[in-house]
Formats: sequence, C-alpha cells, structure tokens
Amino acid sequence: MRGERYIRSLNDGRTVWLEGKRVENIPEHPAFKGTLTTIRGLFDTLDDPDTRDRAGYRVEGREHYAHSSFLVPYTREQLAQRSRSFAYWSAQTHGMMSRLSDYARSVVTGWYAARSQLRSLDPHFEHKITAYYEQARDNDLFLTTAIIDPQIDRSRNLDDKRIAERFLHVVRETEDGIVVRGAKMIATGAPYTHDFVISSFLKFESKDRGHAHVLIVPANSPGLHIVCREPFADHREQNHPLSAKFDEMDAVLFFDDVLVPWERVLLYGDPDKVLTLRANKTANALAYHQNVVRYTAKLEFVTGVAFAVAEAIGVTGFLHVQEKLGELLTQIGVIQALAIASETKAKPDEAGVLVPDLASIDTARNIGTKFYPRAIEILQQIGGGGFVQTPSGVEDFYGPISELMHRYFEGASISAEKKVQLFKLAWDLIGSPLGARHELYERFYAGDPVRGYANQYLGFDRQSLTEPVWKLLKETSKRGTTLA
Ligand SMILES: Cc1cc2nc3c(=O)[nH]c(=O)nc-3n(C[C@H](O)[C@H](O)[C@H](O)COP(=O)(O)OP(=O)(O)OC[C@H]3O[C@@H](n4cnc5c(N)ncnc54)[C@H](O)[C@@H]3O)c2cc1C
Repeated sequence: MRGERYIRSLNDGRTVWLEGKRVENIPEHPAFKGTLTTIRGLFDTLDDPDTRDRAGYRVEGREHYAHSSFLVPYTREQLAQRSRSFAYWSAQTHGMMSRLSDYARSVVTGWYAARSQLRSLDPHFEHKITAYYEQARDNDLFLTTAIIDPQIDRSRNLDDKRIAERFLHVVRETEDGIVVRGAKMIATGAPYTHDFVISSFLKFESKDRGHAHVLIVPANSPGLHIVCREPFADHREQNHPLSAKFDEMDAVLFFDDVLVPWERVLLYGDPDKVLTLRANKTANALAYHQNVVRYTAKLEFVTGVAFAVAEAIGVTGFLHVQEKLGELLTQIGVIQALAIASETKAKPDEAGVLVPDLASIDTARNIGTKFYPRAIEILQQIGGGGFVQTPSGVEDFYGPISELMHRYFEGASISAEKKVQLFKLAWDLIGSPLGARHELYERFYAGDPVRGYANQYLGFDRQSLTEPVWKLLKETSKRGTTLA
C-alpha cells in the first residue's frame, strides 16, 4: 500500500530539528506519529477499490491512480472530480488538516496546465515543469510550499544588508545548479514532505535578481535544516482527540548553502517573471479552490461540535443561542455557495483548462479569515465555563469516585461520560495549543488578510460600480436644472 511506502520514504537523511535535537526516525517520533498515521490512511484510499475513485483518478493510459489534485480539468466533470477529492480527504480530517499536499500539488498541476502560457518566461520552463509534474504524480510525492521570507524587520527591504543576507538568495551558480542561502518561514508539513515548492514573495527590483526564484527543493537536500515549532501532538487521545491525530507540524527552513539542481530551478534571476508566474490565474485558481472546499469541512465540523455542546447542556431553547447557531450555518452556506460559484462560473483558459472563478475564491478566502475566529468565539459563548469543568482525564469514571462522576458531570440529554468526551473535543478546538494554532492559521494561511482584502479592491473593475453612481447623479442634476 502506498501509505506504507510513503512512511518508509521519510527516513531519507533529511535534517529535522525538534527541541534541540536532530530527529533520527521521523515516522516513529511521538511528535509526528499520530499525524503520519492519518496521512498514511489517506494515501491508502488511493489503493482501495472502494475509495480510490473518490480520492483520485486513473492516469490516462496507465494503471496508476493519482490523487485528483494532479488532474488537469478540461471538463466540468473533471473539475467536479477535483472538488470531490478535496472534500473527501478534508472530511476524513474534519478540515483540521489543510496541507495534505493537495494544495501544493495543485500549484504544480496549475503551472503544468498553464505551461504553454508560461513558455515565454523561460525556454526551459515547460520541459522542467512537465518532468516534475509527472514525477510528482506518478510517485505520489507529498509537497508543501514555503514562500514567506523570515519576519525580521518588515519595515526594511533588500537595501538593508541584514535583510538581504537573511532572505533566501543565490550565493553562486555552478554547472549543476544554484547554491542558495537564507531562510523561509513557515512550511506546514515540512518534516514529512518530499519536496518544497519555494518562491520569493515580495516584489523585488531588477537589481535584486539573486533573490528572485521559483524552486523545487527536496527535503533531504544537504544543508537544508527543517526547524520545527513546539509539537502540539498529544497522545492522550481521550483528552485531545484532535491533537492526537491532526497536528500538522509547521517549521522554518534554513538553507545553509543548498545546491538546487538546474532541473529544479523553475525560474531564477528575473523578479518580474517570478511575479508573473506567481500571479498565474490558472495555477492560483486550481490551488485556492482546494482551500475553499477544505474550509467547508472545517466549518461544518465546528458547527457540529457547537450544536452538540448546546444540546448537551440544554441551551438550544434560548434565542441568543439559536441566533449564534444560525450564524454558524450562514458561515457554512456562504463558503459552500462560493465554492459552487467558483465551479459553475469556471471558464476555459487559452489552453482549454477549466479555471475556477477566482473572484468567488478570493471572496471566500478573505471572508474566511473572519469566519473561523468568530466560530470559535461562538463555541466559547455557548459552552461557557463548561470547558474547564471537565476532569483532567476520563479515568475518574472508573475509580473510587465513579458514582459521583456519573452524577455530577451528567448533561441535559447525554451521559456524564459522553458529555466529558464532547467537552474535551471542544476544548481541543478552542483552548488547546492546537486550537490556538488553527485560529492563527485561518487568519493568515492565505497571506496577510489586510492585504488580501485590499487586493480584492485593487483588482476589481471599480468603474463598473462607480459608473452607475455618476450616471444617477448626472441625471439628477439635469432634472434639477430642468426643474429650476
Ligand atoms: C499556522 C500557519 C501556517 C502557515 N503555513 C504556511 C505554509 O505552509 N507555507 C507558506 O508559504 N506560508 C505559510 N504560512 C505563512 C503565511 O503565509 C503568512 O503568515 C502570511 O503570509 C502573513 O505573513 P507574516 O506572517 O509574515 O506576517 P507579516 O507580513 O509579518 O505581518 C505582520 C503584521 O504586519 C502587517 N504588515 C506587515 N507588512 C506590511 C505591509 N507591507 N503593508 C501593510 N501591513 C503590513 C500585517 O498586516 C500584519 O498585521 C503559515 C502561517 C501560519 C500562521
């Protein structure tokens, strides 16, 4: 099964740092084991005849089933297949794992799909992206992205030597490739990815050509250090049902003179071309579409927990609680509607690739940054102090105070034990380190939300809205003159 193959592939000499130590055995480390078990199960859905058509598609002319994030959609059915696969994997993790590589794979698929448009950027681009896309698809490569430069001093740019030295840049070119030095901040899934999709983020000037790049970097590249945050994985599954299985590790990447072979240097040396690639609508729409489908699963899950908590403590009859539960349903409705709109308004690009509607997707990603923190707030407002009234473990249900436990933790409509389980799950969403990370994730994963909203304004055909206003005023003033 490919899940096992994936797990076995991870001890490949990569350098992963956690709590001051180099991790020797990635699959067996307690920080990763629960999460990797989840991913292994997802990979196996592509081998199981009962699930493989939901998770993937059969690659034309081959026996191989690949995940549908690799499917280039030319028809509505193929776009729907992508959406179904994103929804299927998301549902298995309740939307709590968002970087299962289907996002980064979609970026690669998008660049491959748009290769003829992008040919003008570099004569070798088309050949390189085709070879890599096929390799990733046929070997089930797990991918993640890292594009943000380290947060050192955001008021400075590359004119400041301190910044220029720390942002990822080329230190020399060799016959075999380019040697890069510097850091990238936050690559989710980094310790257990196969390759990183790396690109520069800011708009650089042409003099800063050494900082402009789009690269594919293997996780086991010599000189690459993967520096993990504190693990939130908690093996007491009864206490932390989400943290036990779904802690997607985030890490910072240090490139200590890493050689990137030429065939993995997709673009380099021209900031404008890098920006053109990063702004490619086909690739962005295919990748961001995954974000929106995944988000629906998460909002449905949080709403399910909120409903269950409200029922468990008998507060569903109160008007303000009903209003808040209704608000959660409107969140789901909005994101679902935008996902559907992005699919029904999809249009073919010049190569015939069916591209989901980016305006709908941008709207979902922007409004989504506000929905999740609000959903968590609602959960807190409904559960109140109940979240901290739960006992430290469920063991007390089987010890000397068992009878008292059953009596005093009882819920409105459920047993004490079930209620405690439910509140522990809810606490994992709202109060655990994993829960806090998720709130931050939904605010920021799509980039700085402030600039996200601003870009939606800046990219909009503003005249289409202002023209009717000026027209109305013109007619009004004409009528005013007539009346006078
Ligand atoms: C949990 C998590 C996982 C992530 N995973 C990934 C990943 O897998 N891959 C990846 O590439 N990225 C990932 N990200 C990074 C994410 O893309 C960034 O957090 C996001 O782009 C914002 O950048 P920043 O965090 O550097 O914030 P900053 O840009 O440093 O912003 C900090 C504050 O300063 C303000 N600010 C900074 N600069 C400006 C400016 N020029 N104009 C106006 N306001 C400004 C912002 O509005 C914000 O309030 C992840 C982030 C999180 C939180």
